[in-house]
Amino acid sequence: MNIALIAHDAKKLDMAEWAEYNKLTLSKHTIYATGTTGEVVNRATGIPIIRLKSGPLGGDQQIGALIAEGQVDVLIFFWDPMDTHPHDPDVKALLRLAVLYDIPTACNKRTADYLISSLMWNREEKKEETSG
Ligand code: PGA
Repeated sequence: MNIALIAHDAKKLDMAEWAEYNKLTLSKHTIYATGTTGEVVNRATGIPIIRLKSGPLGGDQQIGALIAEGQVDVLIFFWDPMDTHPHDPDVKALLRLAVLYDIPTACNKRTADYLISSLMWNREEKKEETSG
């Protein structure tokens, strides 16, 4: 599966810890991330990351485009509820596409935990194993 990771600055530590804890599972998938998030996650896990532009420079929109093209199966997006950002319109557009295309999306750690451990997730993995 293709998993997209994004974390705003105030949430990067949470993302690094979450990714480190789940690195075995994440390492079995293709990981996309916005620029700095990708760097942080790579440093925490050693997993190769397809890094897009930084969020404020268009990275969120790149992930939105990947969703529209069917290239993202899961979105983990730790956005910051305590601050505004220059690219807030991009954030809204990305979340809109995630809903529109019915992409499983986690915006906080506990939801990300549920997502990564869900039966559906395991079923998808098994489906891939048997078809591959
Ligand atoms: P970053 O972008 O991973 O490059 O920090 C994330 C964001 O701010 O949307």
